[in-house]
Amino acid sequence: MQPSHTARWKEIECEMTNGAPVQAIVGEKGLMQYLEEGEHQWISLALKIWHNIIRSNNMKEIGKVSRWCAFDHELITDRWNNRFRVWNKSELAAYCTFIHHGKVKSFQELKDLHGLTNQDFHRSLQVRHLVEEIIRKDKEEKMKTGILKVFSGAYSSEPNNKIIARLYAGLQSLRDDITICLKEKWGKEGNFQLSEEEWEKLIHSQWETTCSSTWREFGWKNITRFFISPEQKKLKEMGSGCWRQCGEENANHYHIFWGCPPIAPFWQGVHKCMKDILKMDIPFKFEILYSGKIEWEFSATKGKYLFNIMMVAVKKCIARKWLKTEVPMIDEWMEIMYEILVMERMTFTLRLQQEKLIKYWGSWIDYRKPLRPYLT
Ligand SMILES: [Zn+2]
Repeated sequence: MQPSHTARWKEIECEMTNGAPVQAIVGEKGLMQYLEEGEHQWISLALKIWHNIIRSNNMKEIGKVSRWCAFDHELITDRWNNRFRVWNKSELAAYCTFIHHGKVKSFQELKDLHGLTNQDFHRSLQVRHLVEEIIRKDKEEKMKTGILKVFSGAYSSEPNNKIIARLYAGLQSLRDDITICLKEKWGKEGNFQLSEEEWEKLIHSQWETTCSSTWREFGWKNITRFFISPEQKKLKEMGSGCWRQCGEENANHYHIFWGCPPIAPFWQGVHKCMKDILKMDIPFKFEILYSGKIEWEFSATKGKYLFNIMMVAVKKCIARKWLKTEVPMIDEWMEIMYEILVMERMTFTLRLQQEKLIKYWGSWIDYRKPLRPYLT
């Protein structure tokens, strides 16, 4: 992001806009108008996602750190605009470029490092006030987002490794409070407890389930109770009990995925298959099977990988019968497993990692081979 850095991608992206550089649009949603809609869908989409993250996480104030003073509608007047643009050439662009070691650079430092002159003094005071507000807000939030550091690093010439990972970790910390609340809801409905460490492992395992981001996202949606339960539906429409007509009037997520009596034979069938395939004694408990609380140790990673896939397939099987009276069947679960296997085989082949398919899927293929000899 640093203005002096040259790269072909940067030239291309900068040419996309008619007036404001792409980096400046990162900091200010109103500048999206400079991107000609339709022609630069990828960059527009990425920027829209970023602005949504800022809005949904209530980070508008801290997010200002990536604004460019030359394009800040709250700061500039036409009279001053040109001078701010001159600053851009001296690597003073976004507000984060005014920060050094967590503090706003003094006017003397701005003069020494960026060639500002005395005529810039009043403008620099105005910027100082804005940047100090951003730093204050960041401290107020206990610097959880890490955004200040991420952007300061991105604009500096110092090595700035793992930028995406650090940004993700910052955003994730904001969501911790929300996910802990989800953990409590599952525990309360299912009458079990997950420690924070177990909950974290559970969340993490969603991102290791299959090679496909679609399946990972599906696992994540389940954990975060994305689907509307009859109990929630009841709040809007009177009399919406369990759709499997078991008579339960308060059918929450736990009930739909585990507790509902008509679904018990399906779970028993899945449980038996899992024990046979993994050759392990697995307790028949919701917190083990659905939520993935692993009380026993997998002897090898391959068992865990397959276990996670079997669980995401179970959830898909249940979700496919959403709002329907009929219950999911074992054969349907097997079919979903087969769909995932086909996709995984293709992925591992393209990656020239065929040995991983056998490592992760070997016990499943052996189990199913008598019925589907073409699996291998
Ligand atoms: Zn029910």
